[in-house]
Amino acid sequence: MTRLVTFADGTTVPALGQGTWEMGDDPAWRDAEQQALERGIDLGMTLIDTAELYGDGRSERLVGEVIAGRRDEVFIVSKVRPENASEMKMMLSCEKSLERLGIDRIDLYLLHWEGRVPLEETVDAFRELVDEGMIARWGVSNLDLRTMERLMQIDGAEECASNQLLYNLGSRGIEYDLLPWMQSRDMPMMAYSPLGRGGLLEHPLIVDIADRHSAEPAQVALAAVLRNDGIIAIPKAASVEHVEANADALEIQFDIEDLERLDQAFPPPTQETPLEMI
Ligand code: NDP
Repeated sequence: MTRLVTFADGTTVPALGQGTWEMGDDPAWRDAEQQALERGIDLGMTLIDTAELYGDGRSERLVGEVIAGRRDEVFIVSKVRPENASEMKMMLSCEKSLERLGIDRIDLYLLHWEGRVPLEETVDAFRELVDEGMIARWGVSNLDLRTMERLMQIDGAEECASNQLLYNLGSRGIEYDLLPWMQSRDMPMMAYSPLGRGGLLEHPLIVDIADRHSAEPAQVALAAVLRNDGIIAIPKAASVEHVEANADALEIQFDIEDLERLDQAFPPPTQETPLEMI
């Protein structure tokens, strides 16, 4: 059964979605990537994350091809570059993203990270796009707790639907403060690089726990990210085989021993730490 996560406005999405950074870049991989994303949608991983930044629009274009004819099945997340997050530039950025994606509304549009444009202006620009019907909702990415608190002082910022953050077994700092803060506000957290960009998958403990559960290391890493409610993980997989493995990640049920060993190898934070980002 697909686990769902609910945004504050009541919209539900699957807890397991699909990332697309570095997809669409290499023509030799394009067919495999397209098939992987399509298979992911078939398997219920219908939230797809992209950004205008990725491959200078190539990722959005690939996603557009994948979702052509299946718009109603998917929930599309894209991101605006910080330098385009102004009242002057955001609308054009969004129009171009919509064109590449072949859709008339982005389901969730995120500020990729904070740049020089004041957050007040970015919030106003987002709200204009909502009014125009070009985006259904907006959110942010890579904002730490202090910046989220600053954001919440801005008129209209309570509409911020999500914060997309680096989160995996090797990067747990947000569990100390930012994640509980978001959970207390019913603001889903989108975990990016949930597999540590693939780097976690050869860790001896992850391999060992995977073996114990007759599972794949990627499934263990994803199940660990999704062990708490209100989290959406967006692994990137460029093959059908990887997507199929990822789709089954939530079948893993950790026992207490697994959880203790994971905490020993990847200790949870005991104090505030600077936000990690890629
Ligand atoms: P991930 O942590 O998702 O890891 C991707 C790597 O894991 C790839 O090498 C992939 O290989 C491999 N992999 C995937 N599934 C499996 C599997 N079942 N078995 C073995 N290997 C597997 O890294 P990303 O950095 O791509 O993060 C995911 C998404 O998060 C991005 O694609 C992007 O959409 C988003 N993101 C957002 C950021 C932000 O600033 N907001 C920053 C970084 C990422 P292969 O490709 O060969 O399948």
